[in-house]
Amino acid sequence: MPPTPDLPLRLALDEGALVANWRALNRLSGDAAAGAAVKADAYGLGAVRAVRALAAAGCADVFVAWAGEAEPLLGLIEPSRIAVLHGPRDEGEARWIAAAGLRPVINTPSQARSWIAVGGGLCDVMVDTGINRIGLGLADLGDDAVRALKVDVLHSHLACAEEDSPHNAEQLGRWQHARGALPHARAALANSAGITLGAPYHGDLTRPGLALYGGIPCSALAGTIAQVARPEAALLQVRDIAAGERVGYNGRFTATEAMRIGVAGIGYADGYLRAWSGKGLFRHGERALPAIGTVSMDMTVLDLRAAPDLKEGDWVAADYDLPAASAATGLTQYELLTVLGGRFARR
Ligand SMILES: *Cc1c(COP(=O)(O)O)cnc(C)c1O
Repeated sequence: MPPTPDLPLRLALDEGALVANWRALNRLSGDAAAGAAVKADAYGLGAVRAVRALAAAGCADVFVAWAGEAEPLLGLIEPSRIAVLHGPRDEGEARWIAAAGLRPVINTPSQARSWIAVGGGLCDVMVDTGINRIGLGLADLGDDAVRALKVDVLHSHLACAEEDSPHNAEQLGRWQHARGALPHARAALANSAGITLGAPYHGDLTRPGLALYGGIPCSALAGTIAQVARPEAALLQVRDIAAGERVGYNGRFTATEAMRIGVAGIGYADGYLRAWSGKGLFRHGERALPAIGTVSMDMTVLDLRAAPDLKEGDWVAADYDLPAASAATGLTQYELLTVLGGRFARR
């Protein structure tokens, strides 16, 4: 068999921008070091590639959600610098995490017991200070198994870091209390937006995710963070339609004049969601090619009036600046990244 044909879509990744974003967040973290949240395959952009680039730039700590997400990263970064945020679900998983040399984040007393049962090596703990998601309660810090842990990073996580909210200071106070209650080597509280709240929130380590990948959660990061990812697709067909003709499912677009249109090989199955119908914009160089009609499962029709020379096989790129994309679609910047589907070649 000859090689499998490439799909007509690729996710262009600006590695220089990724590294520059990490450097900026590391600088804004002051005396703390910035790590990198690379869960969910680095928010959809490809964790192997992201970790390789970030580790080369000096990023020493990364965070995955599930133990299995660490597997492709082994060999790219010291395993003991990969923290598994969700911790071990049971003793079997604890054993796997220990054998791989990873650092679990212990979130419950029963996770603490599982970890102790398999040897109780260096680990992290997550203390819940008000988001009421996963994490030890302040009362759990007296638990015997928790007290037996050898804690590297004592984490907590902010619920409203991107907002000017009194809950931030409240959580800060509880985190400081937890730091006094449980011995640990390092402490961490801030996600991307939390870094902008200032030195008291930095501790020893910060955990940016979104902003590494070009997301701007709060105005304090505008102008500092650069776009990293951009979906690109090839044109499958170019055609001319007459005034009055309709385009796509349910005929949501009607041509008001004779025009040339192109069909790009990208659709909602790839994460270019129907929320973009009638709103998306693609480009060929600087030329703007509005998406017209309803986005299909794996096709999006474009208005080629600004670029009538385009032909089958030519590549076009979606406008995917995250704050603007979020404003246009109503999706969050987190969702806009993580929905980008598995069909893209990440390049
Ligand atoms: C995902 C996650 C982060 C990163 O948050 P961003 O808002 O994407 O910067 C930080 N800490 C924890 C515990 C997380 O789960």
